[in-house]
Amino acid sequence: MTARAAPARRRRAVVDPARRWSNYLRRYRPGLVEFVLERLATQYGRPAWDPRLDPISELVLTILTQNTADVNAERAFVALRERYRSPETTPIVGHRRGGSTPDDPERPPEGWGGEGLPPGRPPDWAAVEDAPIDELIAVIRPGGLAYQKGPRIQAALRTIREGRGAYDLSFLTDMGAVDARDWLTTIPGIGRKTASIVLLFCFGMPLMPIDTHVERVSKRVGLLPPRAPLELAHDLYLAVFADDDMYEGHVNLITHGRRICHARNPRHEICPLVERCRFVNPKAP
Ligand code: SF4
Repeated sequence: MTARAAPARRRRAVVDPARRWSNYLRRYRPGLVEFVLERLATQYGRPAWDPRLDPISELVLTILTQNTADVNAERAFVALRERYRSPETTPIVGHRRGGSTPDDPERPPEGWGGEGLPPGRPPDWAAVEDAPIDELIAVIRPGGLAYQKGPRIQAALRTIREGRGAYDLSFLTDMGAVDARDWLTTIPGIGRKTASIVLLFCFGMPLMPIDTHVERVSKRVGLLPPRAPLELAHDLYLAVFADDDMYEGHVNLITHGRRICHARNPRHEICPLVERCRFVNPKAP
């Protein structure tokens, strides 16, 4: 007796969610992406990528910013530098950007909500990793949630040292953006947002870190579906902005969220995006 063949099934084409979302935007909201980029650039300028901190410092600083204001993370990071000093042979790294006018000699880094770290040597990462946990928690207390962040920082340093033999993430430059993000998110306590910040700001990789400002503005205007979970939103953005627009788009969306599109009382009356914002008009083109 021959086996009966399984009934033929119609298979739905497999389309990745990012491609599907970008097709939706193109079809139902044509020109929206270009409109947002252009209007924000007119308002805030065109930020150009420039590497800022070394990647390990950026990673640790980003862990310190989790659920707290950037100024608090700065204080905690400066305390780390002071308590766990590196040898004087370690190069000093900058964080602020040199200003172009005499009354603005140094500006905070783009996309950063604090004042910017003063120039300094990165902490001695081996000493941070080996520090008694109670001591490390006390040092980073100004950054808030020190009981979570202390172990998280030590776990990240340990994972990198054990996996790569040094506190060094430069190998990530040889990987594609999503592979590099996947590598970083295997570290306990490192999610897509933190990984994307390190990869965008230190390596210029085309990833969109979705913080509270990017998420709010994007969902209000309609660059993201209103109920997209954060994990998915990181992937949807991979097909929304072109690679070359990712840094500018990220920095300007954050700036817009801080200056105009506030969580409470957004200033629609002066917003350059108002004509196409679905928060103001659910039928906006
Ligand atoms: S119109 Fe209002 S809600 Fe829409 S982006 Fe501008 S400030 Fe935000």
